[in-house]
Amino acid sequence: MPISFRKHEEFFTFHDPMHDGKLIDRKTEMRFDPLTGETSRIIFDPGAPFVPKDFAPLAKETEGPKCPFCPENVSKITPRFPDELVEGGRFIGKEAVVFPNLFPYSKHNAVVRMSEQHFVKLEEFTESIIADSFKAAHRYIEKVLEFDDQTEYVSVNWNYLPPSGGSILHPHIQVLASELPTNYQSKITSDSRAYYDKEGDNYLTSLATEERNLEERWISQEGSISWLHAYAPKSHYDFIGVFEAPSFNDLGSENYEDLAKSMLHFFLYFKEQGVESFNAILHIPVKKHAAEQVHFRLIPRMTIGMLETSDMNVFTFLQGEPLSLKAPETVAKEVRKFFIEGK
Ligand SMILES: [Zn+2]
Repeated sequence: MPISFRKHEEFFTFHDPMHDGKLIDRKTEMRFDPLTGETSRIIFDPGAPFVPKDFAPLAKETEGPKCPFCPENVSKITPRFPDELVEGGRFIGKEAVVFPNLFPYSKHNAVVRMSEQHFVKLEEFTESIIADSFKAAHRYIEKVLEFDDQTEYVSVNWNYLPPSGGSILHPHIQVLASELPTNYQSKITSDSRAYYDKEGDNYLTSLATEERNLEERWISQEGSISWLHAYAPKSHYDFIGVFEAPSFNDLGSENYEDLAKSMLHFFLYFKEQGVESFNAILHIPVKKHAAEQVHFRLIPRMTIGMLETSDMNVFTFLQGEPLSLKAPETVAKEVRKFFIEGK
């Protein structure tokens, strides 16, 4: 059975002072995620542009001796892994340094300091910084899986800049590995398996094929990764990268290089759109299963207006209902040109 893209439209009728008190119908569109059935709302966009904050003054205030990840501190004051996990206590890449999170969220939780430079603007990221950091994360995961055979769930997580929840400006990603899933890992795993049992297909690879054919939310193929926009987005944009690799052991250097190239394309789009901050996850199934696939998910984060209002509110947190001002089909079309031009 083809993947079902279901939506429901509601219209709210009122006299609009912006249109001389004329009676208007304003639309809210509820979209159902084709896998989970969870709803997202596409709400009316008043058209105010996203305005990025300038983090350069904060970067000046927090760099060097005040930053645990800057070169003068990273090898002195960050925690170390036990020697049986890694000789010397830290994994070292080109610029990446991997060490334990002092305040862990999980049984295994590494931080990957990505660059020597304290503040890396979106346009300053290079393929090498991103790919090297994810490869360093991979080496850590490899060791964890060797060391702890109870590990069932693994992810790499990125909060970029404070609007996204990042508490240190210096670029870093976090690797989580545990016996238990997060809500996202639990839902994607159980629903993908249920889909496989019912349809005999892998949901994410079927979705990528379907979106490529429909050309509505399809973005581009970057090497081993198929990029598309989520039908029911988790925020104003929601980019999904479906890897050819089904599980951790199928991932190699080229996958991380493809990811890094893709990120640079998205960053150009973010710059154009006035977006400075984002959240991203790389979901990695530990064991190969025909229903599951390695995939990436990227959403923008921002504060709004002069009050620096959070983009997370009662709807997103307590009602669990993501809101988007942008239509996924329009965004996919806009971002596609950065993949084509970026080649
Ligand atoms: Zn720093």
